[in-house]
Order: sequence, then C-alpha cells, then structure tokens
Amino acid sequence: MSKADYEGIPRNKIPWDPKIDYNKCTTCGKCVEFCHMNAFKIEEENGKKITTVNPNSCVVFCRGCEGVCPSGAIDHPDETQTRRVISKLKNNQITNSAY
Ligand code: SF4
Ligand code: SF4
Repeated sequence: MSKADYEGIPRNKIPWDPKIDYNKCTTCGKCVEFCHMNAFKIEEENGKKITTVNPNSCVVFCRGCEGVCPSGAIDHPDETQTRRVISKLKNNQITNSAY
C-alpha cells in the first residue's frame, strides 16, 4: 500500500479535505502552524494574501484545525457521506478483483 492510499484506496478518491470559508478567513496563519501535514499555505495572489489547501495532505477524518481557526472558517465534508464513498470504493475493488 502506498503512502497515498487510505485503506487500500487512492487518497485522491476520498472526499475529505478542509474547506475554507473565504468570507471568514483572515489569513492569520494559525492553521498553517497547526497542521503537521502541511495541508495549508499562505500564498500571495495579485498582491493579496490567501490561504490555500492541499486537499490530499489532510488526514482522513481529522478535524483538528476546525477548532484552531479563530474565525470558524474551516469545515470538512459530512463524515457519513465520506464513509459511504469509502465503502463503495472498497466494494468496487472487491468486485473488480473477483474477475
Ligand atoms: S486559521 Fe482560519 S482564519 Fe486563520 S488562516 Fe487558517 S482558515 Fe484563515
Ligand atoms: S483536519 Fe487535520 S490533517 Fe486535515 S488539514 Fe486540518 S489539521 Fe491538517
């Protein structure tokens, strides 16, 4: 299993990543400092600071940064939905390997 896999499924197929509400984000950088996976970066676009996300760096089902953001700007997808997607992908793998 590669590092990019989650339970045998390619990480980039799993819908789990931090969503930033840019109406609330103040680019304070707290999420950048906090996330050990380096999922966040503060970048500059057209002379303006913006917080960017590398979605596949986020640990599946971690929500740590949500509580760290002073503006409440970070959210994640619905956990039940994501678990459903994972089950489906696993079932597909089992079905495909049976032939
Ligand atoms: S902690 Fe919240 S407000 Fe600060 S940069 Fe991250 S998302 Fe934006
Ligand atoms: S949920 Fe966890 S792994 Fe994902 S971006 Fe936030 S702190 Fe990093």
